[in-house]
Amino acid sequence: MLGTMADATIFDTAVIGGGVVGAAVARGLLGAGLTVCILDEGDVAHRASRGNFALVWVQSKGLGMARYGAWTRASSDAWADFAADLRTETGIDVAHQRPGGFSLCLSEEELERRRAALVRMHNQPGWIPYDWELLDRAAIAREFPDVGPEVVGGLYCPLDGHVNSLRLFRALHAAFNARGGAYLPERPVTSIAPLSAGGFRIETPRGAIEAGKVVLAAGIANAPLAPMVGLTAPVRPQRGQILVTEKTAPFLYRPILTVRQTDEGGLMIGDSMEEVGPDERIGLGVLSVMAQRAVRMFPRIASLNVVRTWAALRVMSRDGFPIYDGSEGSPGAFIATCHSGVTLAAAHDRLLAPMIARGALDADMAPFSARRFDVPQAA
Ligand SMILES: Cc1cc2nc3c(=O)[nH]c(=O)nc-3n(C[C@H](O)[C@H](O)[C@H](O)COP(=O)(O)OP(=O)(O)OC[C@H]3O[C@@H](n4cnc5c(N)ncnc54)[C@H](O)[C@@H]3O)c2cc1C
Repeated sequence: MLGTMADATIFDTAVIGGGVVGAAVARGLLGAGLTVCILDEGDVAHRASRGNFALVWVQSKGLGMARYGAWTRASSDAWADFAADLRTETGIDVAHQRPGGFSLCLSEEELERRRAALVRMHNQPGWIPYDWELLDRAAIAREFPDVGPEVVGGLYCPLDGHVNSLRLFRALHAAFNARGGAYLPERPVTSIAPLSAGGFRIETPRGAIEAGKVVLAAGIANAPLAPMVGLTAPVRPQRGQILVTEKTAPFLYRPILTVRQTDEGGLMIGDSMEEVGPDERIGLGVLSVMAQRAVRMFPRIASLNVVRTWAALRVMSRDGFPIYDGSEGSPGAFIATCHSGVTLAAAHDRLLAPMIARGALDADMAPFSARRFDVPQAA
């Protein structure tokens, strides 16, 4: 904390939103030597960070924006050190592993569609190449002896991995507290006003905060907050559902895009992509399709009991890529939002936060600006 005014506490930076994006950026800002608070709406909020699938995933990220491929790759490369730092700082093991990951396909058509998309992605101008492989059924069966007869093949990328994402969330908050950050829950931000002398006054029902910089990291709630500081955040909720089975002996040693075995032994099966607005209800129809696909991939799953199901809302921009911006009209205001906040946590902590601390995003972050949505569509 920098100090207090008559009616407001003052920080170098206020991060709005304490999900995995806000918490990672906030930890990084503390590492850059700033005083930081997180203003968080609290448990009533939609929180993608508590409902995700926990992949740290690279393959398939970046078709349509080569810079996103490089950003994802950079985060994946930084993840092992990031996890080690979190463990040293908090004692929490987030169970990060990068053993390589697979997408399994149940038809030749699906395999060809995925292959063609990866070829297009890797052929984009500006793409930084990395290894991936198209695997036939025999190669998949060598890796996964239990694979079902309907699996025709798949894709493999050695850069893919996974974590325990709830522990990641806890570790980020523990590290934030340990570094002296001020976590302020039950503070839904209602207004952000730029001050004439620089900085911002941020109002919540439990009092005001003043900060030299403000970072919008409120997930889907960034949409109404962004215009307050001259930014735009065209993001929408996209529902995903997840099934968790009882624990079973380890047999999936590497993550698959839609099925993974957690460090604790249960299988997670997911995830759907549903355009249903801000609706977090589960639906048996979608869950049963997901379960059937998983059983077709690994018939042994059929005998496992499902112990939990949930739905959560992804934070999805119009083109699916992150939005990182600094405001031109209100210097010192930034936005960070994305649909792969687990994968990108290391980049947010180690790469994005230092840019915000310096006061401007690097020039090569320009592709992530929401100004890309201003380009008129061709007739
Ligand atoms: C089903 C599913 C599967 C996923 N799988 C993966 C995966 O495998 N790998 C991966 O990398 N990502 C995955 N994701 C995405 C990942 O979970 C999100 O990118 C990430 O959680 C987004 O974090 P966030 O902090 O932006 O948003 P959220 O977690 O939604 O947090 C937003 C925060 O803002 C706060 N807030 C809202 N409004 C206000 C306000 N007015 N004032 C103050 N605070 C406010 C809320 O309290 C909340 O804490 C998945 C998501 C879903 C839903």
